[in-house]
Amino acid sequence: MQTTLILLKPDCITGRKSGEVLKRFEDAGFQIRGCKMFRADASLLQEHYAHIASKPFFPEVEEFMTSSPIIAVALSGDNVIERVRDLLGPTDSTKAAKGTIRGDFGTTVMQNIAHASDSLESAEVELKRFFQPAELFDYSMEIRPGR
Ligand code: ADP
Repeated sequence: MQTTLILLKPDCITGRKSGEVLKRFEDAGFQIRGCKMFRADASLLQEHYAHIASKPFFPEVEEFMTSSPIIAVALSGDNVIERVRDLLGPTDSTKAAKGTIRGDFGTTVMQNIAHASDSLESAEVELKRFFQPAELFDYSMEIRPGR
């Protein structure tokens, strides 16, 4: 069982696709363990996007990511890290196949609906960046199939 960090980006929030995206994750059998809405600030984005912070397009990403509140979701399930990346499709929405989340709802390489951790190591770091331990819930024993 793994947990990954999802960020529903401003195009998802303002385009009112959050329910659709979360439905795809839940329909795939994944469980929401934590969820919160907030407005990202520059220092959080510098940290989260350190690997692209020196790219020429970074200021645009920063402007986009602060243009509305975002939603962070901690999502658990078998092999969830890789499977969610598959459900999302590639970074560039224009190259993402129909049926993937980015292919169906994304518009550009930047406005691509959601972030998802790309490895076990980044998931661990990213979950700590966005959630306090008390904000993550383990209720797997309380789930009744079929209800
Ligand atoms: P991913 O989010 O698929 O893991 P990256 O980590 O490479 O992709 O990039 C982080 C985010 O930066 C992307 O999701 C996208 O919003 C934005 N981005 C990546 N490449 C570009 C680009 N060439 N132009 C504009 N924005 C980009």
